[in-house]
Amino acid sequence: MASRHRHPLSLLIETIVIGGQTLWLFGRWIIRAQRAADVDFCPRGHPVPLVGVWVCALCRAPLEGHAWDECRYCHSRPAWLPCPSCGLPVPRGGRR
Ligand SMILES: [Zn+2]
Ligand SMILES: [Zn+2]
Repeated sequence: MASRHRHPLSLLIETIVIGGQTLWLFGRWIIRAQRAADVDFCPRGHPVPLVGVWVCALCRAPLEGHAWDECRYCHSRPAWLPCPSCGLPVPRGGRR
């Protein structure tokens, strides 16, 4: 009977440890999800997805992939991307 009795403090510590592990896993999952989505923000703060289908500004070829990747036909790189919400330019660089 005595072995079934648990100190309330040990329960509290267990809760903190399990909670910390859950937070850690959740945080790592969020970081991975952000990398997969790869979103930038325009000057007004609208999210601008950087992975999708694009038209090359120079040769007008449709491209699939990351917005800042080199065009496979004319090898140009876009200097900026228009925000899909307000049209303001999102400059290349910074995080890549
Ligand atoms: Zn091109
Ligand atoms: Zn915008």
